[in-house]
Amino acid sequence: MKLIIPVLLLLVILFFVGWLPKKKKKSIIPMPSHYRDLLNQQVPFYRRLDSGKQKEFEERMMLFLSSVRITGVKTTVEDLDKVLIAASALIPIFNFEGWEYVNLHEVLLYPDAFAEDFAQQGSQRHILGMVGSGALNHVMILSQSELRQAFINTSGKSNAAIHEFVHLVDKTDGSVDGVPGFIMDQKYIVPWLQLMHHEIQLIREEHSDINPYGATNEEEFFAVVSEYFFERPELLKEKHPALYDLLQHIFRQPASIKS
Ligand SMILES: [Zn+2]
Repeated sequence: MKLIIPVLLLLVILFFVGWLPKKKKKSIIPMPSHYRDLLNQQVPFYRRLDSGKQKEFEERMMLFLSSVRITGVKTTVEDLDKVLIAASALIPIFNFEGWEYVNLHEVLLYPDAFAEDFAQQGSQRHILGMVGSGALNHVMILSQSELRQAFINTSGKSNAAIHEFVHLVDKTDGSVDGVPGFIMDQKYIVPWLQLMHHEIQLIREEHSDINPYGATNEEEFFAVVSEYFFERPELLKEKHPALYDLLQHIFRQPASIKS
């Protein structure tokens, strides 16, 4: 007992003079120079940022790639895939300072669409991306061909990788329900629910240009309209101004974003 106090004192002194290991800082992989070319060529969201914000985008991209493992399943993960996955992760939360996907450890990249049992053959191959649950908690699965195609096709309203990351953002408050309570100002929740139900009804009545998959339920609606918002902001603003306004508040986007 007599020894405890001097020993504790010694440990405190050693800690402050730096002789004891402190919590290790996450090591971030430096960005290979050609990643900037890939971003410029393939990611319109990055091209629209000013140079200061582009630098921030690059740093946060490398932080993401240093924290989340990307594994190819029957395919090879190329640098382009890494850049596009990290960009898809960053786009929805870029205006949330310090955001990290704590609920994601690994992305599995499949060559093409897959079925619910992850089979890559057969007629059930329709899924383009998914967020795992149960044994696959903290894992996201994406289709490589779909990932690349979404960034090539700049006139489309869909982006399967952004869709899955929006599900993860939605999940941060504990439930995937189309209401991202963690990022959303309380005052927008009721208007958001009302507008969401109205728009889902319009899809069901076939009076909407929103992907009909969005009418599956609230969580799919939120993910599908978020794709539309980030892929074709001006078109969404023109066709669904109220939806555009609320998504702008939810994602803290600047007043006007160009597609
Ligand atoms: Zn979905």
